[in-house]
Parts: sequence; C-alpha cells; structure tokens
Amino acid sequence: MKIDKLSNWISIKDRPLVIAGPCSAESEEQVIAIAKELKESGKVDAFRAGIWKPRTRPNTFEGVGLVGLPWMKRVKEEVGLPITTEVANASHVELALKHDVDILWIGARTTVSPFAVQEIAEALRGVDIPVMVKNPINADLALWMGAIERFSHLGMTKLAAIHRGFSTAEKSKYRNLPIWSIPIELKRLMPDLPIICDPSHIAGDRELISEVCQKAMDASMDGLMVETHITPDKALSDAKQQVTPMTLRNIIGSLSLRNEQGGNKTFDEALQKLRAKIDDADREILELLHMRMNIVNEIGLSKKENNITPLQISRMDAVMKNRAELGSKLGLDEKYVEDIFHVIHTESVRQQTKIMNDFDAGVSDKKDKE
Ligand code: PEP
Ligand code: MN
Repeated sequence: MKIDKLSNWISIKDRPLVIAGPCSAESEEQVIAIAKELKESGKVDAFRAGIWKPRTRPNTFEGVGLVGLPWMKRVKEEVGLPITTEVANASHVELALKHDVDILWIGARTTVSPFAVQEIAEALRGVDIPVMVKNPINADLALWMGAIERFSHLGMTKLAAIHRGFSTAEKSKYRNLPIWSIPIELKRLMPDLPIICDPSHIAGDRELISEVCQKAMDASMDGLMVETHITPDKALSDAKQQVTPMTLRNIIGSLSLRNEQGGNKTFDEALQKLRAKIDDADREILELLHMRMNIVNEIGLSKKENNITPLQISRMDAVMKNRAELGSKLGLDEKYVEDIFHVIHTESVRQQTKIMNDFDAGVSDKKDKE
C-alpha cells in the first residue's frame, strides 16, 4: 500500500501535528473567532469543524449543513489555516470539494459501513485530497483497515487514521475506551500510515484531554485532533469535552515528547544487550510452552480412553486462581497473569478436543473400510 508522508500534504510547525476546532460549526462568528485564536496560539496546523453531524438521537442539533462551508472557506482564506470536515456520503463530498475543503475525514459511524465508505471513495475517484479515516465505533481493526484500503485501492495515497476510541459495554472513566493495542497493531500492520489521536472523543471530559494526549505521544502517534471552542460549555454538541484555544495551547506546550529512535551510542549498546536477554527469555518461555503442550496431549489421550470431557471447569478455575496468586507474589499484575493463563488453558482444551475428535474420526474411518 502506497502512503504519502504527512509532511507531503500538510505543513507541520512543530511535532506533533495539531488539528483543532469546534465539534460543530455553529455560526460564522463562532467559526472565525475560534480559528483566529487557534492561529494566534501558534500550535495549530489545521482547523476542524463538523458541518453535518451524526447525532445519536434526531431532534438534536445535526449541524448547520451547507451554509457552514463558506464560513470554513473564510478560515482558509482569511485566517490562513487549512480546513477539514467530516463527510458521510457522496453529496457531502461534492459540496466539500466545491468549497475547497483541504482534508476530509470519515466519521466513526461511517467507517462501520462498507457500503457508505465505498460510496465516498467512488465519489473521490481521481481527486487528489487527503482523507483521514476514524476507527469504527466497535473495536474491529479489520473493519478500520478495510475502510482505509477502499481509498488506497482507488489510488489515494494521502491517507491517515484517526484513533477516537471504541464504544464498549465496559464501564470506564472514558467516553470511548482507547484500547491502545488496536492502533498500535494498526501501526505494525500499516507502518507508513500516520495515526492521529482524537483525545476529545476518547475522553468525553475536558479534564482528561491532557492525559490522553500524553498517552498518544508515548504510543508514537503522529498527531492530535482536539475539539476546541471559545465558550465550550455553550457548545451545541459535545460541550463537556471541548477546551478553549488557551487550554489547548497549554496542553500542547506541556507534552513530554520522547524520541522513538536515536539515543546515544552507550544507550543503544545497553539496549541491545537487554534485548538479547529478552530474546533468550522468550525462547525459554516457548520451550516451556512446548513441553507443557506435550503433557496436555498426553492427558488428552488418557481422558479419551476414560471417556472424560476435555474441559473441567473446576480445574480451570483452580489454575486461574493459583497462577494469578503466584504471579502477584512475583510482583506481576494479576489481570496480566490471568489473561495469559486464560489463553494457555483455552488452547490446551482446544488441543485435547482435537485429539479426541481425530481419534474418533480415525476409528470411524477404520470401521468404514471394514
Ligand atoms: C467528531 O469528530 O465530531 C465526530 C462526530 O467524531 P466521531 O466520528 O469520532 O464520533
Ligand atoms: Mn464531536
């Protein structure tokens, strides 16, 4: 997949890339006032505002629509910031292009629908415009990657992902659980794809924006998209999670930016030595897992001979509890140890079930031949 560098399509003053602006464009005055303050802060590279808003319930503010696009155009021409907005269908695309929107983004509620994403991609055939794809609402990495591929397959190369957290039944202080392992896995599978974090929709609460921004930087993300309003409490959508341009400036200014690579020679040598130890430890873990699996298989055969099920819940429960306890005595996080042994035990039961099924299939095969 061919992906352009961020710096090929947006000029970034200073690391990280910062996109900011209100959740929704509400009035011409609101848009211009926010954009001016953001520009003056010297920390912002592009201006965002929602024109068409996907709201959970009807009869709430669903965006100003088409009238807002000329306000955005004024931001671009008079304030001097590139502009970006969400498009959710082919007609949004047509109108956004007509009003010289610089960058488009696909919202989380659209990414979940392959038909909608394909329609948008088709509407952009042959157009050289950057597209940022938010993760789908549900924690489905393949669906996120699929949406990005729909643009890439049409030859678009100015692409980025936006991590805005995932809606789950789990109770949390966040509005949308960040589940950092998902964007990190996306980075591993699509290493050239820039990833921008949207702390506003993850946090849902302005008090948490700063800590989410720092976590995004620690996970080597390339940029931030932060909802910003001059009077956040009066915002017509997502009021609780918006910050003022001044607060945003302070948040960006106080981020600790670490390098992913490029320490000095002593550091690099020490790191290499420690990593060699980790490699050895991992090899030993794998050899032990192999040995453990041989025992599991032996037990499987004997369970088969004695007509016993592969799974004994009481044994599983005992293993989980005992290993979590042992682990915590060693200073390991209990949940971490539980998760590992859950995977180990589930695979053991799967292997034993397979042994039993293979054995039965072998017996009936033999019978058929007789
Ligand atoms: C937004 O950015 O205002 C928005 C609607 O985001 P999401 O698609 O992530 O919910
Ligand atoms: Mn919003």
